[in-house]
Amino acid sequence: MSRQWIETLYDAFGQSFNVDKVYFESKTEHQHLMIFHNAKFGRMMVLDGIVQTTEKDEFIYHEMLTHVPILAHGNVKRVLIIGGGDGGILREVCQHASIEHVTQVEIDQAVIDMAKEYLPNHSNGAFDDPRANIVIDDGINFINQTNEKFDVIISDSTDPIGPGEVLFTSPFYEGCKRCLNEGGILATQNGVAFMQIDEVTTTAKRLAQVFEDVTFYGASVPTYVGGIMTFAWASDNAANRKVDMDTLTKRYNASGIKTRYYNPAIHQACFALPQYIVDELNSFDK
Ligand code: SAM
Repeated sequence: MSRQWIETLYDAFGQSFNVDKVYFESKTEHQHLMIFHNAKFGRMMVLDGIVQTTEKDEFIYHEMLTHVPILAHGNVKRVLIIGGGDGGILREVCQHASIEHVTQVEIDQAVIDMAKEYLPNHSNGAFDDPRANIVIDDGINFINQTNEKFDVIISDSTDPIGPGEVLFTSPFYEGCKRCLNEGGILATQNGVAFMQIDEVTTTAKRLAQVFEDVTFYGASVPTYVGGIMTFAWASDNAANRKVDMDTLTKRYNASGIKTRYYNPAIHQACFALPQYIVDELNSFDK
């Protein structure tokens, strides 16, 4: 009987995975990191007892968190990634030949190192892309200290527990606003709404204090259990969220990117939210 690994994100519920082989397990400077193989999902990374990414379903999350803001914007030259140590977001960003520069700020060098070694297809060489500048630091430190400006900022953080917590705060969002060029877009990992609805409403309240146009979009990622993973969306240009299908299709085709989940129809549909989320978002004064 192979070892079972049980996710500890929720008190009263946990999904379990057979562990066929452990590639790495250690306490890094910041968090407990484990990479193991599961027959259904392939190699998996977990941090502090929470599923981060799997070989089998990572494409859904990485494509949606990357291509929705970039193709909505339409003229992205500079991207900032906060977190994302597995390299999946960086891989998707670097698919866009029109992007001139991407800075990635990751707090834990060990995550990058272990992902390169045991999950090489996540970054697929993107860490060596000449446009990529990798910074090892707490994302909020970088945001508070940089004078650089970006067209899109993607926060691919852990959950708001431990080192990731600071990336869900008002000071972080205010800093992101300061680091965005005019018409820029912030997109963030914001949890599975059905299981973490408080994260959605808390983020909505905080972002609404900083940005003109705030909403969420979604995609179902099997190992982020409980329904749609919500991505927070913040911009001062509401038109970014209302790009017509013809324009999206032209941009998608011109980009030359290859996708397995994202397409223009999914892009347009993903902003449609279930009524229970809409009701929660309407239940407080922004
Ligand atoms: N897709 C995953 C999810 O939805 O939960 C996130 C994956 S990625 C592995 C999360 C990354 O955020 C990790 O590499 C972690 O080290 C990084 N991280 C956590 N807190 C951070 C912080 N304050 N600054 C920068 N990176 C941080």
